[in-house]
Amino acid sequence: LKVLREVDAVARLADRFRAAGLSIGFVPTMGALHAGHLALVARARAECERVIVSIFVNPTQFAPGEDFDAYPRPLTADIEACREAGVDLVFCGEARDLYPPGFQTWVAVEELAKPLCGPRRPGHFRGVATIVSQLLSIVRPHRAYFGRKDYQQCLVVARLVTDLHLGTEVRTCETVRESDGLAMSSRNARLSPAERTTAARIHRALAAARETLERGEGSVESLEAKLRGDLERGGGLEVEYAEALDAPTLAALPSGNLPRGPGHVLLAVAARAGKTRLIDNLVVEIPARRGTTD
Ligand code: AMP
Repeated sequence: LKVLREVDAVARLADRFRAAGLSIGFVPTMGALHAGHLALVARARAECERVIVSIFVNPTQFAPGEDFDAYPRPLTADIEACREAGVDLVFCGEARDLYPPGFQTWVAVEELAKPLCGPRRPGHFRGVATIVSQLLSIVRPHRAYFGRKDYQQCLVVARLVTDLHLGTEVRTCETVRESDGLAMSSRNARLSPAERTTAARIHRALAAARETLERGEGSVESLEAKLRGDLERGGGLEVEYAEALDAPTLAALPSGNLPRGPGHVLLAVAARAGKTRLIDNLVVEIPARRGTTD
């Protein structure tokens, strides 16, 4: 395992891999690695000949007042986890290199950043899109791996890779969950025992909404209201959003009857348990012509 901090050194080693005909899988992270990250690494390991992980808590994707300073940074343990997972190169970038004095070039994926987390985290997706563009330009991987837990981020990244002709194949991986369904997240470590118990309600509420959607019962409005009600019942979760959207585009669903398909609906939630902001989602396949007999 090589651990490099310098942009140029990483780019040179990645060049050497490519020149030797080795395929590169890339997993960008902010560290505090858990089983969700390691599932991305395992998939990259299985599909590529060299695996590069970046660990960088990207300041530009945190809005003022968010948890940039409090974000966990257990770098030694993360490097050890990468070694055990068979990673070839860890890139621990530094803000002064990725955003040097004079930096002024930003990547904004416009429409996909408008719903859900976009308005609640001003500048977040601009920060994500910019750092991902930089990292993909440095590493130039054959494939890059992202987690479905951050569904909107997956769409934003896929879009910018297409629009900027970056030539990387974007692969998305299923959300890895704790045994009670809570989506793994570096932020879960900050939950108190009581908040941790409450947080498991997010996945239960999403799963119940998926059942309602699959049965085709009610309207888009009643589905969203039920999802929000299930999240709020019992207290302890402050819901930021609880929405059903067209999964590939994040467009609002037409109001009224649930969509008849074929298609995919995204059920997406952001909620706070105490000070900790949690997001989760499910993508539900809607078969063609549900509810008709022809
Ligand atoms: P982060 O370090 O939180 O920026 O996440 C780095 C990558 O890991 C992103 O592509 C995330 O979507 C992905 N990821 C985070 N948590 C999970 C999880 N529970 N399951 C699958 N992927 C995840």
